[in-house]
Amino acid sequence: MANYNVTLIPGDGIGPEVAEATRAVLDATGVGFNWEVRDAGMTAQEKYGDVLPEETLASIRKNTVGLKGPITTPIGAGFRSVNVGLRQSLGLYANLRPGKSIEGVQTRFEDIDLVIVRENMEGMYSGIEFDTGTPDAAEVIGAINARSKKPVATDAAISIKVITPEGSRRIVEFAFEYARANGRKKVTIVHKANIMKFSDGLFLRIAQEVAARYPDIEHNDRIVDNMCMQLMQKPDEYDLLVMPNLYGDIVSDLVAGMVGGLGVAPSGNIGKDVAVFEPIHGSAPSHAGKNEANPAAMILSGALMLRHLGEQAAAERVERAVADVIRTGDRVTYDLRADRDPAKAAGTTEMTKSIIERL
Ligand code: NAD
Repeated sequence: MANYNVTLIPGDGIGPEVAEATRAVLDATGVGFNWEVRDAGMTAQEKYGDVLPEETLASIRKNTVGLKGPITTPIGAGFRSVNVGLRQSLGLYANLRPGKSIEGVQTRFEDIDLVIVRENMEGMYSGIEFDTGTPDAAEVIGAINARSKKPVATDAAISIKVITPEGSRRIVEFAFEYARANGRKKVTIVHKANIMKFSDGLFLRIAQEVAARYPDIEHNDRIVDNMCMQLMQKPDEYDLLVMPNLYGDIVSDLVAGMVGGLGVAPSGNIGKDVAVFEPIHGSAPSHAGKNEANPAAMILSGALMLRHLGEQAAAERVERAVADVIRTGDRVTYDLRADRDPAKAAGTTEMTKSIIERL
């Protein structure tokens, strides 16, 4: 019996292979899914003349949950980013990036168990930019120079950082709610309010106001550069970290690197009404169609989706099965092997079968 309708976007490159693997694992949990397969990216461009067709967005809105494979972004003008389009169209303001060590994955760090919550829609990625030498840039610079004691060079390029009270409040509330629901003990607010006193200052102030409403969860704050050093030196002192967009982009990749990188890093993009889960890796075109892509990151994204749906037990089974297969090490894809030898490695389907056997 299907308990959940989910929009499945296989994507392109290795996307369809890792999406198929994930569908098979999630079906094997017995939770019960009805998959609505929809296109985005190049496959959608070919069929509908649009990389992000309204039909795909409508399906996610209706089902409220999506699972997405990676999508190739062709280099060149005129091709809008599907990921940015999804985020903006669906209001996916929270980017959830857990980083948990898996025994058997080669890394420099052990026993890492962190969660990064990144603001996904504003900050330095507001998309408001003025190119050097343009009349718009000249006008903006003129307006700034009329008000600011520090003049801006007339040939500067300008990117606007936007931090709003509402954007800050909802991301920090998301972080504390997630902490509460998932047994996390401490939230660290990450910022650079010592330098950007108004924008990051606002984020910090709002974050502290929100934190005061969650007395059951410990909180502190760190300046982002110091945070990076502390993650290298004493990561065990941290639990869940919440931060504006640009810092979250960088720190979440730092933490992904600490636990083994692209092949094992899941993510969720979550809004008020809908959520889309996806691996952080790209479409790895050179491995496409060869049955050699590592499906773990997308399967773990499926486990994050299970948690979002409240299916904690099934999520734990999936995470444990993936960890077991990686720890055992004999049926894993090339990238999880020390010798990275595709000839000795398991294929995508073989590794998936092994995960399903252990569920
Ligand atoms: P990539 O993540 O596709 O590949 C980086 C490296 O990691 C490559 O060596 C690749 O072969 C390897 N790799 C990645 N995932 C793997 C997996 N599951 N199993 C085995 N090996 C894996 O990054 P890239 O090469 O910079 O980008 C390729 C395309 O993907 C670009 O068009 C980029 O825009 C797009 N991209 C999409 C997303 C997304 O849809 N969310 C994310 C990142 C990149």
